[in-house]
Amino acid sequence: MAAQLDTLCVQAGYTPGNGEPRQIPIYQSTTWKYATSEDMGKLFDLEASGYFYTRLQNPTNDMVAAKICALEGGSAAMLTSSGQAANFFAMFNLCSAGDHIVASSSIYGGTFNLIKVTMARMGIETTFVNPDCTAEELGAAFRPNTKCVFGETIANPALTVLDIELFAKAAHAHGVPLIIDNTFATPVNCRPGEWGADIITHSTTKYMDGHGAGVGGAIVDIGSFDWLAHADKFPGLTTPDESYHGVVYAERFGQGGAFITKATAQLMRDFGSIQSPQNAFLLNLGLESLHVRMPKHCENGLAVAKFLSEHDKIDKVSYPSLPGDKFYPMAQKYLPNGSCGVVSFEVKGGRPAAERFMKALKLAAIETHVADARTCCLCPSASTHRQMTDEQLREAGIPAGMVRLSCGLESAKDLVEDLKQALEQA
Ligand code: PLP
Repeated sequence: MAAQLDTLCVQAGYTPGNGEPRQIPIYQSTTWKYATSEDMGKLFDLEASGYFYTRLQNPTNDMVAAKICALEGGSAAMLTSSGQAANFFAMFNLCSAGDHIVASSSIYGGTFNLIKVTMARMGIETTFVNPDCTAEELGAAFRPNTKCVFGETIANPALTVLDIELFAKAAHAHGVPLIIDNTFATPVNCRPGEWGADIITHSTTKYMDGHGAGVGGAIVDIGSFDWLAHADKFPGLTTPDESYHGVVYAERFGQGGAFITKATAQLMRDFGSIQSPQNAFLLNLGLESLHVRMPKHCENGLAVAKFLSEHDKIDKVSYPSLPGDKFYPMAQKYLPNGSCGVVSFEVKGGRPAAERFMKALKLAAIETHVADARTCCLCPSASTHRQMTDEQLREAGIPAGMVRLSCGLESAKDLVEDLKQALEQA
């Protein structure tokens, strides 16, 4: 298989044999038939590889996971039912009650809530750090019980860019892996593994699917973290798993296979957050054109960000590929070919002006979604954070007039025209 990303997007993960279907088959089956209980027993004991029940694994999913694995340059990968499930599994595969996580404070609100509230209820504490903190500030966040570091390449919705190399160095100096949510950048624009990240997660719901068709997630293990060298920190990977007759994942499946095998065997088995094979098939259709779509999303994002930054009814534009943006130098380092299609900005006049502006948009639809072929937008103060007063919004760092616009694949000229006419009415 050729190593170029464009070819991997189209062909990785599935190579049909003679007389086999050209498109990946959908294995629409919950279960698999075996001649003897002994055959099936070997699968249950992880002594043989194969499929027995779709709550844990399905061949269609595995083909698509293999493509995402190739795109990220990983050693093993799995699909999950959503991006939320991917991030939860990635962290919970390493942490138990009494453990600790270091996370960037600039992350998707759903992930923030997952870590801050739900995982805290499981006894896992988190210290949040600024994405642009110094090496000293980052180092001070670690504790003896820290088990991983978490951040997003490009944060949703703040559009900050993480210094992946700095975070990876700090994680490794403390003997733990770095987990990066690479949803907004996609491997087309950044491969965090090349900068030292060990585990990569995705909400495939976004650009990978790209057409608003299916919710999904993915986890990729780069295979770079040596679990056995840090055996005391990761007993789940380096000591016998009683639920599988004492298998030691890091020994049986090696550095490149242990993490995903454990997440499949334990977490998928017990939580069952598998992606449906139908959704995996749709995701693969999206992946086949990811390398063609991403440059266009970025081209539209930059055109819109430039237009907005010069408009007198706009207070502030955040877009990391826009010269002058606080994260422009970081984007030049990690995202030299473009960042994403999402632009955040503030309409002068606060919430009423933002609401008038969005109502007047003709092409951009108001949606709780981003990273789609169709341009969409959301005003947090008028929707997701509607119950907050302007003062509470300020305290939460969400200006009342802030709009998050996700540029789709339409003509940049038409998108700018739409924004122009809507701003006239704001
Ligand atoms: N990670 C990021 C960066 C996201 O933007 C989102 C959703 O917007 C998620 C994770 C959660 O993904 P999902 O909605 O597929 O569960």
